[in-house]
Amino acid sequence: MDKLVLIIEDNKENYYLMRYLLEHKGLRVIGADNGWMGIEMAIYNNPDIILLDIQLPGMDGYSVARRIRAKDEIQDIPIVAVTSYAMVGDKEHALAAGANGYIEKPINPDSFADQILEYLNIDETRRDDEDPMC
Ligand code: MN
Repeated sequence: MDKLVLIIEDNKENYYLMRYLLEHKGLRVIGADNGWMGIEMAIYNNPDIILLDIQLPGMDGYSVARRIRAKDEIQDIPIVAVTSYAMVGDKEHALAAGANGYIEKPINPDSFADQILEYLNIDETRRDDEDPMC
């Protein structure tokens, strides 16, 4: 598997936990700790999926999602919003800003990576069958 995940997250503990869980599943991970850097990294690296924290310094995740959706070269990259907000309507707000899905913090280490793999439409069992080196 050669899938690249871009995590835009300012909290280092959350970032390293997500990174660890995804790399454990064989995904490549890059990260940005603010929205501006995240957008630049998306343009430069063309990731397969973007995990987007909503509470970011400067430009919040909703604005980041809207900017990504407005840029031709990256507008089709799936975005999964990751937020600790428990407010009613927050999920709808993220989806309206252009996110394809939504994961709540604190993330569940037992299911987080599998959720991301589902967004990537990867069938792990089939992949193992196809690649004896896995
Ligand atoms: Mn944050």
